Amino acid sequence: QPSVAIVGRQNVGKSTLLNRLTGRRQAITEDLPGTTRDRLYIPMNHAGRDFELVDTGGMEPLPQDTIARSVNDQVRSAMKAASVVVFLVDAKAGLTPQDHEIADEVRKSGKPVVLAVNKADNARLSLHAAEFHSLGFGEPMPVSAFHGRGVEDLLDRVVELLPEPEAVAK
Ligand code: GDP
Repeated sequence: QPSVAIVGRQNVGKSTLLNRLTGRRQAITEDLPGTTRDRLYIPMNHAGRDFELVDTGGMEPLPQDTIARSVNDQVRSAMKAASVVVFLVDAKAGLTPQDHEIADEVRKSGKPVVLAVNKADNARLSLHAAEFHSLGFGEPMPVSAFHGRGVEDLLDRVVELLPEPEAVAK
């Protein structure tokens, strides 16, 4: 089963987007700090294609001084398992140094990537998506995990990048 990982720095809205995509409720983002959950794989179907979404939400580390390093570890480990990577950034915050760091990791993975610009809640904020062109992952796709804006388009793109299903043996 091909799998899809959502990566990005803290607070870009990964959990919110995951909940939006899977139809789960907001509660998952309210996990107590420091709780550890195993990585979850959530079965998905879009446009007739089956895949799994990797949920790494419970893997966020706590100790402040290790956050930067652990986020990169988390990004690496999530991507290793993924067929397609959704790299999420934040239209409201704009491009940050940490986005560049994660971009490097994403590039190194060699995986097909969709660059999604979250918090594009309205047309004005969607204009901010252009700023992320410079990350080098092609046309950034504006989405709003809050309102569901752009989410169908995002799924369409993800499904296009999934590996071809194995040919049925004769
Ligand atoms: P994570 O750390 O990447 O998993 O981010 P969260 O999903 O916890 O979201 C971080 C913050 O951004 C929360 O306060 C969310 O409510 C907020 N957020 C998430 N998606 C959106 C969105 O589409 N629009 C806006 N305006 N805020 C969002």
